[in-house]
Amino acid sequence: MPHGFVCRESCFELVMPLSLQMPLPMTSAVELLGQLERGETTAVALTEASLTTIQSRDSQIGAFLSTNADAALAQAKAIDDRRRSGQPVGKLAGLPIAIKDNMCTMGLKTTCASRMLQNFVPPYDAHVIEQLKTADAVIVGKTNLDEFAMGSSTENSAFQVTRNPWSLEHTVGGSSGGSAAAVAANMTSVSLGSDTGGSIRQPAGFCGVVGLKPTYGRVSRYGLVAYASSLDQIGPFATDVASAALLLEVIAGHDGRDSTSVDRPVPAYSATVDQPLANLRVGIAKEHFVEGLDPEVEAATRKALDVYRSLGAEIVELSLPHSKYAIATYYLIAASEASSNLARYDGVHYGHRAAEFSNMIDMYSASRGEGFGAEVKRRIMLGNYSLSAGYYDAYYLKALKVRRLIRNDFDAAFAKCDVIASPIASTPAFKLGALVNDPLAMYLSDIYTISANLAGIPGISIPCGLSSAGLPIGLQLQAGPFEEDKLLRAARMFERAS
Ligand code: GLN
Repeated sequence: MPHGFVCRESCFELVMPLSLQMPLPMTSAVELLGQLERGETTAVALTEASLTTIQSRDSQIGAFLSTNADAALAQAKAIDDRRRSGQPVGKLAGLPIAIKDNMCTMGLKTTCASRMLQNFVPPYDAHVIEQLKTADAVIVGKTNLDEFAMGSSTENSAFQVTRNPWSLEHTVGGSSGGSAAAVAANMTSVSLGSDTGGSIRQPAGFCGVVGLKPTYGRVSRYGLVAYASSLDQIGPFATDVASAALLLEVIAGHDGRDSTSVDRPVPAYSATVDQPLANLRVGIAKEHFVEGLDPEVEAATRKALDVYRSLGAEIVELSLPHSKYAIATYYLIAASEASSNLARYDGVHYGHRAAEFSNMIDMYSASRGEGFGAEVKRRIMLGNYSLSAGYYDAYYLKALKVRRLIRNDFDAAFAKCDVIASPIASTPAFKLGALVNDPLAMYLSDIYTISANLAGIPGISIPCGLSSAGLPIGLQLQAGPFEEDKLLRAARMFERAS
């Protein structure tokens, strides 16, 4: 077993309740890979430690929908054997990783936390999974999410709720809540999530870990079960910025099977992440500091700006005038695309089929009625409405036009600054049950994250403090398209200084 793991686990499980364990230092993926390379630990030891931690903690947290113990241990053993015999191993050789359960994993159930796909075992791997396997990462399990990634609290899962490792009464955020919790509770040091409107960054913020949404097109969506195809993007969770950089480097790159995947070389993010940026200009938008922003979150954000000032950065005040339309625009576009993408689940081509029906139409509606949860149905209805003749121009088409204006705002902003800093959410993690019956309030909680998806730009969430209740607060940085290198370096500067 890796040294750090054993000590932390045994000391603190004896004396502290689970929710107080989190402020402990966690071993980063970069550090674990170093230990593997130096022979201080093995892939089998790390995989066993990860599976043991899942076993002991996940009954309380609910981060995982399934684990992959036997295959993971066999793979870990094969990697150790290869390393011992001097054969080449991949960049992530022996590193346990958790995957959001909306990415296809060959031979491993991929449910999207939906009854519709409860028994779906993909016959192929998503592009990111292929990349991870080439890098010799060890997939230990699939994590919980809001059904089909629709939600902001992971309470919309058809199977279980995920609890925040910092406080079991609070949500983990969503929709990639299981992946965020897995890292925050030290079950794996890294994981993958998907971000359509904040689903990596917001749970990262709520769970006190790093979460990165890449530029649209940077990572292939092949094998990611589609929610809103023009917004979806896969990205990493990690304990630290350097590990997120390394993971992005592994999963990014062109893939002809996703027509929106961009053919641009992948920079060596992990090699440059420690280089501070000279003459850094950090933008702040006046629209981001308005009513509704929790005072503690505002204070933590302003303190983060002081850190940047102390590092010699210039703080540039700017405006993103169309951001007030972002929520309406996002929920029209996302629901429209979802209604189209989810049409395939008809009980014939894909997914659950009702046991009893009287004719074909009845079979479709019974299958969809039983297979989808309330939030998914709400999105399908909203989307079909905004795409229907007579409403298309007024809703969907108008939303597309506003989307362009939102992107234009960012283009103008990035002419004046390198990164834009903001809160990741207006409050720290909210309580379980607090918003789940109020869809509009839940949608409003995405205010800081959805613009990046509409504009296609990258964004990262990094921990920047704790609330008086002891809950993590996240800082968001956003950068221009394909400027992940700059984004990661700016984030690393803050991480190091704080
Ligand atoms: N909360 C947003 C939604 O429900 C974002 C989800 C996501 O990024 N997958 O659509």
